[in-house]
Amino acid sequence: MDNCIFCKIVAQEIPSYKVYEDDKVYAFLDISQVTKGHTLVVPKQHVADIFEYDETLAADVFSRIPKIAKALEKAFPEMEGLNMLNNNKELAYQSVFHSHIHLIPRYSKKDDFSIHFGDHTKKYSPSELQQFADAIKAQVD
Ligand code: 5GP
Ligand code: ZN
Repeated sequence: MDNCIFCKIVAQEIPSYKVYEDDKVYAFLDISQVTKGHTLVVPKQHVADIFEYDETLAADVFSRIPKIAKALEKAFPEMEGLNMLNNNKELAYQSVFHSHIHLIPRYSKKDDFSIHFGDHTKKYSPSELQQFADAIKAQVD
């Protein structure tokens, strides 16, 4: 897609620190390394976000994730964990609108990454939770 920075990276029209490539995906270092080895995995096909995936594309992209995760673990044996993150749409902090999965190696609780869920186990009643589940279930194809 014209004017998409990640399409240009996939086409190698602009440089990147590539870590993996095959016919379906391209993986490269995030320009802003939240932690050492922070990698982005993108489908070669331009899709903006998860809502544009079909099952085949999802299988193509997600099937490559374990081998890249294991490569990170081997490259950086001091790594003690890995967060995978996929932001979809601006409100959810997506800033590049070519879908991508962040692989963020974790080395310490003090590194510059955090996810804070808090405890919301009492927020909704059982009947409200059942309504949510029913509403979603009715929409799954
Ligand atoms: P998002 O905020 O959409 O989930 O993540 C987009 C990521 O792309 C950011 O972490 C940002 O640092 C990274 N990024 C943006 N432009 C470039 C670029 O030109 N090259 C690389 N390697 N990463 C980029
Ligand atoms: Zn693109």
